[in-house]
Amino acid sequence: MNDTATIADVQIKKSMYDNVLEQLSRTAEAIDLNPNIRKILALTNSEIIVYFPVKMDNGEVEVFKGYRVQHNNILGPYKGGLRFHPSLDINDAKALAMWMTWKTSLAGLPYGGAKGGIQLNPRNYSVDELERITRRFTYALGDNIGPELDIPAPDVNTNEQTMAWIADTYMSTKSPLERSNNKHVVTGKPLGTGGLAGRDRATGFGVYLSLKMFYQHRGEELSGKRFIVQGFGNVGYWAAHFLVNEGAVFYAVQDAHATLINENGISVEDLLDHSKPRLNSIKGFDGAEEMDPENFFSLDCDFIIPAALGNQITTGNAAAIKAKVIAEGANGPTDSEGEKILLENGVTIIPDILCNSGGVIGSYFEWLQNRNGEIWSLDEVMVKIEKKIREAFENVRLTAEDKGVDWRTAAYIIAIKRIEMAYEQRGIFP
Ligand code: GLU
Repeated sequence: MNDTATIADVQIKKSMYDNVLEQLSRTAEAIDLNPNIRKILALTNSEIIVYFPVKMDNGEVEVFKGYRVQHNNILGPYKGGLRFHPSLDINDAKALAMWMTWKTSLAGLPYGGAKGGIQLNPRNYSVDELERITRRFTYALGDNIGPELDIPAPDVNTNEQTMAWIADTYMSTKSPLERSNNKHVVTGKPLGTGGLAGRDRATGFGVYLSLKMFYQHRGEELSGKRFIVQGFGNVGYWAAHFLVNEGAVFYAVQDAHATLINENGISVEDLLDHSKPRLNSIKGFDGAEEMDPENFFSLDCDFIIPAALGNQITTGNAAAIKAKVIAEGANGPTDSEGEKILLENGVTIIPDILCNSGGVIGSYFEWLQNRNGEIWSLDEVMVKIEKKIREAFENVRLTAEDKGVDWRTAAYIIAIKRIEMAYEQRGIFP
């Protein structure tokens, strides 16, 4: 590839960071945001990059690169996931951290936004290696994270086991007296380690609930609606689980390994039984046929749930989309150009910072539960999560109606106004 081609590629392919900055600018103009606050929000408070060595199973040492970007903490401690992915770089971490700031603000949580992770493909490592990598990363981050400072959680390719290793490592670095009151340094832990009943399903539940409320307002039901899901990890699985229980028809699914279709519907639980032991790969599932991945997004359906990575819906495929609703389970799945096309075509996008906020809302309840030394039942938790999601959803819906804007702009208006108010009340030190 020559230099011209490289520049052209960069111009065509927007990064998630470009997208989030564009979304911020659009909102700043819509609400006439205080220019000083706009300056602050367009940058991140801190960007931590750590390199750390880990001994591999074969005795050799590999050096890894880990990130934690802390975007903003005006509303409370930094909050957001850690992902393990070969494509993760500093710009992605910055964009994802900014989205967390808007998401926690929109949900009315006392948190700021952060994101991070390690640039690696977890498929290339044994479980023992992943444990050592996670523990050493936690040690390298040291007191840059903490239960009242910055609270990581699961994200792409990390799970409750990863969180248990982080909690154990972080707590082990504290004096015996302090250990147990540091448990809430991470959320998304297993039940036996201070985890919250229902945190596993919280994000997918929020995706389902957003869709349910969306159709209810239009006087329609979920039952009989046909949908497709990109990504069959924690979010994709739980969203499909709740939707199918309500009578919606899950008929195509795509992940990094395969694209599958069954016009009569795919069994969510059979697909999970197939994918789980294969490190979440859906390839080889015999309850559906393989299809051309290029035609996935243009399948005829009522709604699409992108629940994998960012920048999946772009100028390359947006015009061909037939669904009238996109429920963003992933963070940043629609780029700004793709979004313009969808909006022109009358598609409603239920934006990520609303649609997938059930996860961080669940995290907030886990954090409170640990902080207060309590243990809540699944029923109690689901009621609490549902209440918060309903509030955020109604706020966004009413703002979109009042101001005659799309749902993402409405969500941003609410989130950024709340942050602006906190800055105006507190002023800038000194
Ligand atoms: N990784 C999730 C997200 O993107 C959850 C974050 C959290 O629970 O802190 O919202």
